Amino acid sequence: MAGLTLENINKNFGSVVAVRDVTLLLPDGQFVCFLGPSGCGKTTLLRLIAGLEKPSRGRILLDEEDITHTPAHKRNFGMVFQSLALFPHLTVGENVSYSLRVRKTGKAIRRQRARELLDLVKLSGLIDRHISQLSGGQRQRVAMARALAIEPRLFLLDEPLSALDAKLREDMQLELRMLQQRLAVTTILVTHDQREAMTMSDLVVVMGPDNRVHQMGSPLEIYRNPADTFVADFIGTSNLLDGTCSGPREITVRGVRLEISEMPDGMALDTTVTVSVRPEEVHVLPGTEEGGNRLYGSVSFVRDVGSSVEIYLDCGGFQIVSQSTPKGRPAVKQGDRATAVLPPTACVVLRS
Ligand code: ATP
Repeated sequence: MAGLTLENINKNFGSVVAVRDVTLLLPDGQFVCFLGPSGCGKTTLLRLIAGLEKPSRGRILLDEEDITHTPAHKRNFGMVFQSLALFPHLTVGENVSYSLRVRKTGKAIRRQRARELLDLVKLSGLIDRHISQLSGGQRQRVAMARALAIEPRLFLLDEPLSALDAKLREDMQLELRMLQQRLAVTTILVTHDQREAMTMSDLVVVMGPDNRVHQMGSPLEIYRNPADTFVADFIGTSNLLDGTCSGPREITVRGVRLEISEMPDGMALDTTVTVSVRPEEVHVLPGTEEGGNRLYGSVSFVRDVGSSVEIYLDCGGFQIVSQSTPKGRPAVKQGDRATAVLPPTACVVLRS
Protein backbone atom coordinates (compact mmCIF):
# COMPACT_ATOMS: atom_id res chain seq x y z
CA MET A 1 0.00 0.00 0.00
CA ALA A 2 1.28 3.47 -0.91
CA GLY A 3 2.22 5.48 2.14
CA LEU A 4 4.59 5.67 5.04
CA THR A 5 4.85 2.75 7.46
CA LEU A 6 6.56 2.93 10.82
CA GLU A 7 7.20 -0.53 12.27
CA ASN A 8 7.87 -0.81 15.97
CA ILE A 9 10.05 2.31 16.03
CA ASN A 10 12.06 2.97 19.19
CA LYS A 11 14.59 5.71 19.78
CA ASN A 12 16.81 6.11 22.83
CA PHE A 13 19.30 8.87 23.53
CA GLY A 14 21.50 7.14 26.11
CA SER A 15 19.13 6.28 28.95
CA VAL A 16 16.41 8.66 27.67
CA VAL A 17 13.61 6.97 25.76
CA ALA A 18 12.39 9.52 23.18
CA VAL A 19 10.07 7.28 21.13
CA ARG A 20 8.61 3.98 22.29
CA ASP A 21 7.11 1.15 20.17
CA VAL A 22 5.54 3.29 17.46
CA THR A 23 3.74 1.40 14.72
CA LEU A 24 1.75 3.51 12.26
CA LEU A 25 0.56 3.49 8.68
CA LEU A 26 0.15 6.97 7.22
CA PRO A 27 -1.73 6.76 3.92
CA ASP A 28 -0.73 8.90 0.96
CA GLY A 29 -2.02 12.41 0.37
CA GLN A 30 -3.10 12.98 3.97
CA PHE A 31 -2.42 15.89 6.28
CA VAL A 32 -1.21 14.27 9.50
CA CYS A 33 -0.46 16.00 12.81
CA PHE A 34 1.76 14.58 15.53
CA LEU A 35 0.21 16.03 18.67
CA GLY A 36 1.27 15.72 22.28
CA PRO A 37 2.74 17.48 25.30
CA SER A 38 6.32 18.72 25.44
CA GLY A 39 8.90 15.92 25.51
CA CYS A 40 6.57 13.17 24.22
CA GLY A 41 8.79 12.49 21.19
CA LYS A 42 7.01 14.28 18.33
CA THR A 43 10.10 16.00 16.96
CA THR A 44 12.23 12.89 17.33
CA LEU A 45 9.65 10.87 15.40
CA LEU A 46 9.61 13.47 12.63
CA ARG A 47 13.43 13.54 12.53
CA LEU A 48 13.47 9.74 12.28
CA ILE A 49 11.11 9.94 9.30
CA ALA A 50 13.30 12.66 7.74
CA GLY A 51 16.43 10.53 8.19
CA LEU A 52 18.04 13.05 10.55
CA GLU A 53 18.09 10.40 13.30
CA LYS A 54 18.45 6.63 13.12
CA PRO A 55 15.99 4.45 15.08
CA SER A 56 17.41 2.34 17.89
CA ARG A 57 14.97 -0.35 16.76
CA GLY A 58 12.31 -0.76 14.07
CA ARG A 59 11.89 -0.06 10.37
CA ILE A 60 10.58 2.80 8.20
CA LEU A 61 9.03 1.92 4.86
CA LEU A 62 7.88 4.21 2.08
CA ASP A 63 5.61 2.54 -0.47
CA GLU A 64 6.84 -0.76 0.97
CA GLU A 65 10.49 0.10 0.33
CA ASP A 66 12.70 -0.01 3.43
CA ILE A 67 14.22 3.48 3.84
CA THR A 68 15.42 3.04 7.44
CA HIS A 69 19.04 3.50 6.40
CA THR A 70 18.55 5.84 3.42
CA PRO A 71 20.43 9.10 4.08
CA ALA A 72 18.25 12.21 4.58
CA HIS A 73 19.36 13.90 1.33
CA LYS A 74 18.33 10.87 -0.71
CA ARG A 75 14.79 10.68 0.69
CA ASN A 76 13.46 13.65 -1.26
CA PHE A 77 11.50 15.00 1.69
CA GLY A 78 10.89 18.74 2.20
CA MET A 79 11.34 20.02 5.75
CA VAL A 80 10.41 23.24 7.52
CA PHE A 81 11.71 23.76 11.06
CA GLN A 82 10.56 26.15 13.76
CA SER A 83 13.77 28.12 13.29
CA LEU A 84 13.11 28.24 9.48
CA ALA A 85 16.90 28.28 8.88
CA LEU A 86 16.67 30.61 5.89
CA PHE A 87 19.95 31.86 4.38
CA PRO A 88 20.14 35.56 5.36
CA HIS A 89 22.72 36.48 2.70
CA LEU A 90 20.57 35.19 -0.17
CA THR A 91 17.50 36.74 -1.77
CA VAL A 92 14.04 35.23 -1.50
CA GLY A 93 14.37 33.65 -4.95
CA GLU A 94 17.83 32.24 -4.18
CA ASN A 95 16.54 30.77 -0.93
CA VAL A 96 13.58 29.15 -2.63
CA SER A 97 15.64 27.62 -5.45
CA TYR A 98 18.64 26.71 -3.28
CA SER A 99 18.06 22.96 -3.46
CA LEU A 100 17.81 23.20 -7.26
CA ARG A 101 21.19 24.95 -7.35
CA VAL A 102 22.66 22.13 -5.29
CA ARG A 103 21.23 19.76 -7.89
CA LYS A 104 22.95 21.80 -10.61
CA THR A 105 19.72 23.01 -12.26
CA GLY A 106 20.36 25.93 -14.69
CA LYS A 107 19.84 29.54 -13.57
CA ALA A 108 16.89 30.37 -15.85
CA ILE A 109 14.96 27.25 -14.82
CA ARG A 110 15.73 27.96 -11.15
CA ARG A 111 14.33 31.46 -11.43
CA GLN A 112 11.24 30.26 -13.25
CA ARG A 113 10.60 27.60 -10.60
CA ALA A 114 11.17 30.14 -7.79
CA ARG A 115 8.57 32.40 -9.42
CA GLU A 116 6.02 29.56 -9.58
CA LEU A 117 6.62 28.60 -5.97
CA LEU A 118 6.40 32.20 -4.77
CA ASP A 119 3.07 32.54 -6.62
CA LEU A 120 1.92 29.41 -4.81
CA VAL A 121 2.72 30.84 -1.38
CA LYS A 122 1.40 34.30 -2.30
CA LEU A 123 4.74 36.10 -2.42
CA SER A 124 4.72 37.10 -6.10
CA GLY A 125 6.93 40.08 -6.75
CA LEU A 126 9.26 39.49 -3.80
CA ILE A 127 11.76 37.30 -5.63
CA ASP A 128 14.66 39.81 -5.36
CA ARG A 129 14.02 40.92 -1.76
CA HIS A 130 16.46 40.09 0.99
CA ILE A 131 15.31 37.88 3.85
CA SER A 132 15.95 40.67 6.38
CA GLN A 133 13.31 42.78 4.58
CA LEU A 134 10.49 40.26 5.21
CA SER A 135 7.88 39.97 7.95
CA GLY A 136 7.58 36.80 10.08
CA GLY A 137 4.69 35.47 8.01
CA GLN A 138 6.53 36.14 4.76
CA ARG A 139 9.62 34.28 6.00
CA GLN A 140 7.35 31.39 6.86
CA ARG A 141 6.12 31.28 3.31
CA VAL A 142 9.66 31.42 1.89
CA ALA A 143 10.62 28.44 4.07
CA MET A 144 7.61 26.50 2.77
CA ALA A 145 8.33 27.40 -0.85
CA ARG A 146 11.95 26.34 -0.38
CA ALA A 147 10.90 22.97 1.06
CA LEU A 148 8.46 22.43 -1.83
CA ALA A 149 11.01 23.29 -4.54
CA ILE A 150 12.19 19.69 -4.84
CA GLU A 151 8.60 18.43 -5.25
CA PRO A 152 9.00 16.41 -2.07
CA ARG A 153 7.55 12.95 -1.62
CA LEU A 154 6.76 13.97 1.98
CA PHE A 155 6.38 17.47 3.42
CA LEU A 156 7.55 17.57 7.05
CA LEU A 157 6.92 20.54 9.32
CA ASP A 158 8.13 20.95 12.89
CA GLU A 159 6.05 23.61 14.68
CA PRO A 160 6.70 26.12 11.87
CA LEU A 161 3.89 28.43 12.99
CA SER A 162 4.62 28.61 16.70
CA ALA A 163 6.53 31.91 16.56
CA LEU A 164 3.69 33.77 14.80
CA ASP A 165 1.09 35.85 16.61
CA ALA A 166 -2.36 34.29 17.01
CA LYS A 167 -4.13 35.95 14.07
CA LEU A 168 -1.32 35.38 11.56
CA ARG A 169 -0.98 31.85 12.80
CA GLU A 170 -4.62 31.11 12.04
CA ASP A 171 -4.30 32.62 8.56
CA MET A 172 -1.18 30.57 7.87
CA GLN A 173 -2.87 27.38 9.12
CA LEU A 174 -5.61 27.86 6.58
CA GLU A 175 -3.14 28.67 3.80
CA LEU A 176 -0.96 25.70 4.59
CA ARG A 177 -3.96 23.39 4.56
CA MET A 178 -5.17 24.75 1.19
CA LEU A 179 -1.66 24.49 -0.24
CA GLN A 180 -1.40 20.88 0.89
CA GLN A 181 -4.76 20.04 -0.65
CA ARG A 182 -3.80 21.68 -3.92
CA LEU A 183 -0.49 19.81 -4.15
CA ALA A 184 -1.92 16.60 -2.61
CA VAL A 185 1.45 16.08 -0.92
CA THR A 186 1.52 13.84 2.15
CA THR A 187 2.25 16.24 5.00
CA ILE A 188 3.23 15.67 8.62
CA LEU A 189 3.04 18.59 11.04
CA VAL A 190 4.38 18.45 14.58
CA THR A 191 2.42 20.57 17.04
CA HIS A 192 1.57 20.73 20.72
CA ASP A 193 -1.43 22.94 19.91
CA GLN A 194 -4.50 20.74 19.86
CA ARG A 195 -6.64 23.33 18.13
CA GLU A 196 -4.13 23.51 15.30
CA ALA A 197 -4.08 19.72 15.01
CA MET A 198 -7.84 19.32 15.18
CA THR A 199 -8.64 22.01 12.61
CA MET A 200 -5.97 21.19 10.03
CA SER A 201 -5.59 17.42 9.90
CA ASP A 202 -7.09 14.45 8.15
CA LEU A 203 -5.42 12.33 10.81
CA VAL A 204 -4.14 13.14 14.28
CA VAL A 205 -1.52 10.98 15.99
CA VAL A 206 -1.73 11.63 19.73
CA MET A 207 1.46 10.91 21.67
CA GLY A 208 1.62 10.80 25.46
CA PRO A 209 4.16 11.54 28.20
CA ASP A 210 5.19 7.85 28.08
CA ASN A 211 6.51 8.58 24.53
CA ARG A 212 4.03 6.18 22.96
CA VAL A 213 1.28 6.73 20.43
CA HIS A 214 -2.02 6.62 22.30
CA GLN A 215 -4.36 7.03 19.36
CA MET A 216 -4.49 7.77 15.65
CA GLY A 217 -7.70 8.83 13.98
CA SER A 218 -9.63 11.65 12.40
CA PRO A 219 -10.09 14.69 14.65
CA LEU A 220 -13.75 13.79 15.15
CA GLU A 221 -13.02 10.16 16.05
CA ILE A 222 -10.43 11.24 18.57
CA TYR A 223 -12.74 13.81 20.09
CA ARG A 224 -15.80 11.56 20.22
CA ASN A 225 -14.09 8.29 21.03
CA PRO A 226 -10.86 8.93 22.89
CA ALA A 227 -8.88 5.71 23.33
CA ASP A 228 -7.99 6.36 26.96
CA THR A 229 -8.13 8.89 29.78
CA PHE A 230 -4.95 10.64 28.60
CA VAL A 231 -6.47 11.39 25.17
CA ALA A 232 -9.84 12.35 26.68
CA ASP A 233 -8.14 14.81 28.98
CA PHE A 234 -5.59 16.16 26.50
CA ILE A 235 -8.04 16.76 23.64
CA GLY A 236 -10.55 19.41 24.62
CA THR A 237 -12.09 19.23 28.05
CA SER A 238 -13.91 16.25 29.37
CA ASN A 239 -15.69 15.18 32.52
CA LEU A 240 -13.79 12.11 33.69
CA LEU A 241 -15.74 10.08 36.25
CA ASP A 242 -14.34 7.03 38.05
CA GLY A 243 -16.74 4.10 38.25
CA THR A 244 -17.15 0.34 38.08
CA CYS A 245 -18.88 -1.91 35.62
CA SER A 246 -22.18 -3.02 37.18
CA GLY A 247 -24.01 -4.57 34.22
CA PRO A 248 -23.78 -5.32 30.49
CA ARG A 249 -24.54 -1.68 29.71
CA GLU A 250 -24.16 -0.05 33.06
CA ILE A 251 -21.45 1.76 35.01
CA THR A 252 -21.92 2.85 38.62
CA VAL A 253 -20.39 6.19 39.54
CA ARG A 254 -20.58 7.09 43.25
CA GLY A 255 -23.66 4.94 43.74
CA VAL A 256 -25.42 6.32 40.65
CA ARG A 257 -26.12 3.86 37.85
CA LEU A 258 -25.40 5.20 34.39
CA GLU A 259 -26.83 3.49 31.36
CA ILE A 260 -24.22 3.27 28.60
CA SER A 261 -25.03 2.94 24.88
CA GLU A 262 -21.77 1.30 23.86
CA MET A 263 -19.55 -0.69 26.18
CA PRO A 264 -16.02 -1.77 25.26
CA ASP A 265 -15.82 -5.47 24.35
CA GLY A 266 -15.19 -8.02 27.08
CA MET A 267 -15.85 -5.75 30.04
CA ALA A 268 -16.14 -7.93 33.20
CA LEU A 269 -18.34 -6.98 36.15
CA ASP A 270 -16.57 -4.87 38.80
CA THR A 271 -13.89 -3.66 36.38
CA THR A 272 -12.82 -0.15 37.36
CA VAL A 273 -13.31 2.30 34.51
CA THR A 274 -13.44 6.00 33.73
CA VAL A 275 -16.51 7.48 32.05
CA SER A 276 -15.71 10.42 29.78
CA VAL A 277 -18.49 12.88 28.95
CA ARG A 278 -17.87 16.03 26.90
CA PRO A 279 -19.24 19.22 28.53
CA GLU A 280 -21.44 20.06 25.54
CA GLU A 281 -23.22 16.69 25.95
CA VAL A 282 -24.18 17.37 29.58
CA HIS A 283 -27.61 18.90 30.10
CA VAL A 284 -28.20 20.89 33.27
CA LEU A 285 -31.70 21.17 34.73
CA PRO A 286 -32.76 23.33 37.67
CA GLY A 287 -33.59 21.50 40.92
CA THR A 288 -33.27 17.79 41.54
CA GLU A 289 -35.26 16.01 38.87
CA GLU A 290 -35.69 12.26 39.20
CA GLY A 291 -34.79 10.06 36.26
CA GLY A 292 -32.04 7.97 34.69
CA ASN A 293 -28.41 8.99 34.15
CA ARG A 294 -28.59 11.94 36.51
CA LEU A 295 -26.14 13.36 39.00
CA TYR A 296 -27.13 15.99 41.53
CA GLY A 297 -25.20 18.91 42.90
CA SER A 298 -25.10 22.63 43.41
CA VAL A 299 -23.95 25.26 40.92
CA SER A 300 -20.49 26.39 42.02
CA PHE A 301 -19.72 28.70 39.10
CA VAL A 302 -21.27 30.06 35.91
CA ARG A 303 -18.88 31.22 33.21
CA ASP A 304 -20.43 33.19 30.40
CA VAL A 305 -17.99 33.86 27.56
CA GLY A 306 -20.54 35.24 25.12
CA SER A 307 -20.51 32.47 22.52
CA SER A 308 -21.03 29.77 25.17
CA VAL A 309 -22.02 29.31 28.79
CA GLU A 310 -20.26 26.91 31.14
CA ILE A 311 -21.97 25.68 34.30
CA TYR A 312 -19.84 24.03 37.02
CA LEU A 313 -21.73 21.64 39.30
CA ASP A 314 -20.25 20.56 42.62
CA CYS A 315 -21.57 17.02 43.07
CA GLY A 316 -20.02 16.42 46.50
CA GLY A 317 -16.39 15.52 45.95
CA PHE A 318 -16.35 15.74 42.20
CA GLN A 319 -17.25 18.31 39.61
CA ILE A 320 -19.29 18.22 36.41
CA VAL A 321 -18.95 20.87 33.73
CA SER A 322 -21.60 21.52 31.14
CA GLN A 323 -21.36 23.80 28.15
CA SER A 324 -24.26 25.22 26.18
CA THR A 325 -25.00 27.92 23.66
CA PRO A 326 -26.42 31.19 25.03
CA LYS A 327 -29.84 30.17 23.62
CA GLY A 328 -29.76 26.82 25.43
CA ARG A 329 -28.59 28.39 28.69
CA PRO A 330 -29.93 26.44 31.69
CA ALA A 331 -32.09 28.49 34.08
CA VAL A 332 -29.71 28.20 37.04
CA LYS A 333 -27.43 30.54 38.96
CA GLN A 334 -24.55 30.14 41.38
CA GLY A 335 -25.65 28.37 44.58
CA ASP A 336 -28.75 26.70 43.05
CA ARG A 337 -29.38 22.98 43.33
CA ALA A 338 -29.24 21.44 39.88
CA THR A 339 -29.25 18.14 37.98
CA ALA A 340 -26.73 17.03 35.36
CA VAL A 341 -28.15 14.65 32.77
CA LEU A 342 -25.55 12.45 31.05
CA PRO A 343 -27.17 10.85 27.98
CA PRO A 344 -26.21 7.15 27.50
CA THR A 345 -24.83 7.93 24.00
CA ALA A 346 -22.51 10.61 25.42
CA CYS A 347 -20.90 8.35 28.04
CA VAL A 348 -17.64 6.94 26.64
CA VAL A 349 -16.25 4.15 28.82
CA LEU A 350 -12.45 4.02 29.14
CA ARG A 351 -10.51 1.35 30.99
CA SER A 352 -8.69 2.97 33.89
P1 ATP B 1 8.66 19.62 22.37
O1 ATP B 1 7.19 19.80 22.07
O2 ATP B 1 9.07 20.19 23.69
O3 ATP B 1 9.55 20.00 21.24
P2 ATP B 1 8.77 16.79 21.62
O4 ATP B 1 7.50 16.05 21.85
O5 ATP B 1 9.05 17.21 20.22
O6 ATP B 1 8.87 18.02 22.61
P3 ATP B 1 11.34 15.52 21.53
O7 ATP B 1 12.08 16.76 21.22
O8 ATP B 1 11.17 14.53 20.46
O9 ATP B 1 9.93 15.86 22.17
O10 ATP B 1 12.07 14.83 22.78
C1 ATP B 1 11.66 13.59 23.34
C2 ATP B 1 12.57 13.23 24.49
O11 ATP B 1 13.88 12.93 24.01
C3 ATP B 1 12.76 14.34 25.50
O12 ATP B 1 12.88 13.78 26.78
C4 ATP B 1 14.07 14.99 25.08
O13 ATP B 1 14.71 15.61 26.16
C5 ATP B 1 14.85 13.79 24.56
N1 ATP B 1 15.79 14.15 23.48
C6 ATP B 1 15.47 14.63 22.26
N2 ATP B 1 16.58 14.82 21.50
C7 ATP B 1 17.64 14.45 22.29
C8 ATP B 1 19.05 14.38 22.10
N3 ATP B 1 19.61 14.74 20.94
N4 ATP B 1 19.80 13.94 23.12
C9 ATP B 1 19.25 13.55 24.29
N5 ATP B 1 17.93 13.56 24.54
C10 ATP B 1 17.12 14.01 23.56
